[in-house]
Amino acid sequence: MLLFTPGPTPVPESIRLAMAEPTLHHRTPEFEAIFEETRKELFKLLNTDEVVMLATSGTGAMEAAVINLCHNTLLNVNAGKFGERFGKIAKANGLKNVELKYEWNTPTSVVDVLKALEENPSIDAIAIQISESAGGLRHPVEEIAKAVKALRPEVMIIADGITAIGVEKIDVSNMDAVLAGSQKALMLPPGLAILGLSNAAIEKIGEGKGYYLNLASEIKKQRQNTTAYTAATTLTIGLNAILKEIDADGGLNKLYKQTAARALATRGALEALGLHSYPSSPALSMTTIDDENAHEIRSILKKDYEVNVAGGQDHLKGKIFRINQMGLIKTYESAWVVNAVELALAKLDRRAYDGTANKVFNELYFAQMEK
Ligand SMILES: *Cc1c(COP(=O)(O)O)cnc(C)c1O
Repeated sequence: MLLFTPGPTPVPESIRLAMAEPTLHHRTPEFEAIFEETRKELFKLLNTDEVVMLATSGTGAMEAAVINLCHNTLLNVNAGKFGERFGKIAKANGLKNVELKYEWNTPTSVVDVLKALEENPSIDAIAIQISESAGGLRHPVEEIAKAVKALRPEVMIIADGITAIGVEKIDVSNMDAVLAGSQKALMLPPGLAILGLSNAAIEKIGEGKGYYLNLASEIKKQRQNTTAYTAATTLTIGLNAILKEIDADGGLNKLYKQTAARALATRGALEALGLHSYPSSPALSMTTIDDENAHEIRSILKKDYEVNVAGGQDHLKGKIFRINQMGLIKTYESAWVVNAVELALAKLDRRAYDGTANKVFNELYFAQMEK
């Protein structure tokens, strides 16, 4: 079965093997050396002033960022399940919360965010997804961060990059916290989250908030290449291995180029079949199609072509399907996926099979890669 869900993503065999070595104790020079190397790689990946690894799923990093960087009112952008989650985290922690809500195919805008800031002077942090995975939507986070910092530099910008870091190069210069998670673009099993932090964020964190998710204690320890509590040793070894593998494979820029080419080629191929791309501003992390036969298409892909793509949640259940673009994906696998979608449409008597998807995919992919 080809796993083409936008998280979890397949873990490459070399990484699974790296994680199969005997368990290391976390308070040893051997592990600390791996931790140090991994930190160095993460600085290259995130381009932030500080980085912290946490033994938690992505939601733990979201909560860590919110409780440590928001002390009054959180503005969250809700254009999907993950944006909605930021608001729930704020409320669960006794913070005030203002929400900007959109349909799951619609990005927010600089204008809307600045208006909300003006109307609510107590907002001291903004939380937003770079790529909102619920609908495969890209928010203009860089522009928003820039505009907010120009107006109210003390407002913290929390950017959830769990399906963006490792997918495309992000300009983090106006962001205070940038989040990544192991089981999406980093091709690892779930359980490790990463936060990149700005110096302004570190200043605001001060003594930190919370206990397990207190970022001040983690920053202090991690600067010494250790962790406040037991490190996720095996996942850290896996992260070290995958970041080295990306380097060995030509580096991050090559990965970003391939990912963008594959995402554009997949979307183009499916549109050539008459299918419709759901988000008005698609993220590169996944290709999301809304279709009345979304459920049937997914079933045929799984049953007849051994391809597992994701569906939708909540009101989009049975209405969309999402094809992963994150990670080191073989180009021929993506070509197989779009071809399988074309075959599924033929089985549903939607259109006769003529190889269009595969042809368009290859044309667009190689044209992009030759640029
Ligand atoms: C997956 C995901 C998360 C975190 O989810 P976990 O299940 O806690 O790892 C957060 N934000 C986005 C955009 C995601 O795709």
